[in-house]
Amino acid sequence: MKQIPLLINGEFVASQSSQLIDVTNPANNSVIAQVPCATEHEVQQAIASAKEAFTTWRNVAVPERARLMMRYQALLKQHHDEIAEILSQETGKTFDDAKGDVWRGIEVVEQAMNIPALLMGETVENVARGIDTYSYIQPLGVCAGITPFNFPAMIPLWMFPLAIAAGNTFVLKPSEQDPMTPTRLAELFIEAGAPKGLLNIVHGGAREVDQLLTHPDIKAVSFVGSVPVGQHIYKTATDHMKRAQCFAGAKNHSVIMPDANKAQVLNNLVGASVGAAGQRCMAISVAVFVGKAKEWIPELAEMIGKVKPGLWNDKEAGYGPLISPRAKQRVLSLIEQGKAEGATCLVDGSDFSLAGHEEGNWVGPTVFTNVTEEMTIYKEEIFGPVLCCMEADELEDAIALVNRNPFGNGTSIFTASGAAARKYQHEIEVGQVGINVPIPVPLPFFSFTGWKNSFYGDLHAYGKQAVRFYTETKTVTSRWFEDDIPHGPNMTISLR
Ligand code: NAD
Repeated sequence: MKQIPLLINGEFVASQSSQLIDVTNPANNSVIAQVPCATEHEVQQAIASAKEAFTTWRNVAVPERARLMMRYQALLKQHHDEIAEILSQETGKTFDDAKGDVWRGIEVVEQAMNIPALLMGETVENVARGIDTYSYIQPLGVCAGITPFNFPAMIPLWMFPLAIAAGNTFVLKPSEQDPMTPTRLAELFIEAGAPKGLLNIVHGGAREVDQLLTHPDIKAVSFVGSVPVGQHIYKTATDHMKRAQCFAGAKNHSVIMPDANKAQVLNNLVGASVGAAGQRCMAISVAVFVGKAKEWIPELAEMIGKVKPGLWNDKEAGYGPLISPRAKQRVLSLIEQGKAEGATCLVDGSDFSLAGHEEGNWVGPTVFTNVTEEMTIYKEEIFGPVLCCMEADELEDAIALVNRNPFGNGTSIFTASGAAARKYQHEIEVGQVGINVPIPVPLPFFSFTGWKNSFYGDLHAYGKQAVRFYTETKTVTSRWFEDDIPHGPNMTISLR
């Protein structure tokens, strides 16, 4: 059985651990590889290698760091299809969706190619007579990243390219459920010319992560995953005096005004709700129909009901299986709870199974209506192909509903009214807003700005905020005397 290697000091090495986790093909649950839980010594070696590499990497010229990213971007593009195929096999994502996962990561590498401009500091001449002040942006040291299963290319690429371009070194702990994609990303990074120790990869679960969170040589931790793990990571990392940015769960609402373009709304909601089997942190899982827009619910349900799950290489497939039998059981039990708590199940995908692949983690598209705020299907992040439809009398009621929700990752409004859109974007307490755009994931020259329980920290992923997260600012105040010192001792704090 193929065993996924660790990456330590530029070498892909077999772990000495006897603790192995199966990596499966979610379409039939056959085991395709095994991933080791790295030993304490191996995690230690990965951190030590990153620490050693930092001593030279921090002095490498910034344009040279940018050129590494240029070579990496070219290789990722060259191998785009091949990476997507690996990704499809271990996640079950359709090939086109897998290509999108890789592509959104390549876009972050393109941002890292721009690192010289992003590292520019500030200057003011003559802050006092003959005195200038200027600032430099300097790297922190060894940074760590812990990533979820649902975007095994994009999310590791949110982290290590920008951290490394900014002069840091990195230890990545990818999801144990789909580690083959990040391994391929790392192979291409080495092929692009990354020096030894710049990027290290350790595998495992809670124990290996805790070792990173408590190690004194790790300066900053980036995490993406579920709420309980995100809270644990944020608390532990900050308790150990590290910077932390933790992106967590979501419940994203789309508000549909009656003046919206109906065809645009329906087409967009189908993909945004059940695409990727709903396993996207920016999936639309709640559609709030304002006023007469509720008349569109039956047609939307009919369209969603026609989406066919299928194998990754089936061009007709709308989406693939869920990641694991556990994830499937969780979603099925939430669907049952929805019915038991009184929601109307207009489309029920609980019994779906793909012919010839019955052992896979399949769940068909599911649509509930008459959903209320008290129901478990509204309160929990389902992370499956399930859309909850709700109704509101006025835009104000919809805004109040979204703002009462504890999550704040993404939201969208569909309307033909500039005034309604302006009111929504201004009043909504959610960090990423789409106007006639269902899933508003910002491109990497902006940042990924979830709020409330969807994010713990202050500086967000990619864009200028990520550069700030992975760096310190050093402010220099300098005077060069042309003549002798003009004054006697200065006994005050003022500059003169
Ligand atoms: P998860 O929290 O189970 O796992 C994420 C990572 O944490 C994995 O690498 C895992 O090995 C590690 N981990 C698991 N338990 C741990 C523990 N007790 N201590 C330390 N580390 C631990 O998440 P998942 O199921 O892989 O991903 C799905 C979740 O991620 C969803 O909730 C989704 O909303 C969220 N997500 C959020 C964003 C965002 O940007 N907000 C993006 C993608 C996914």
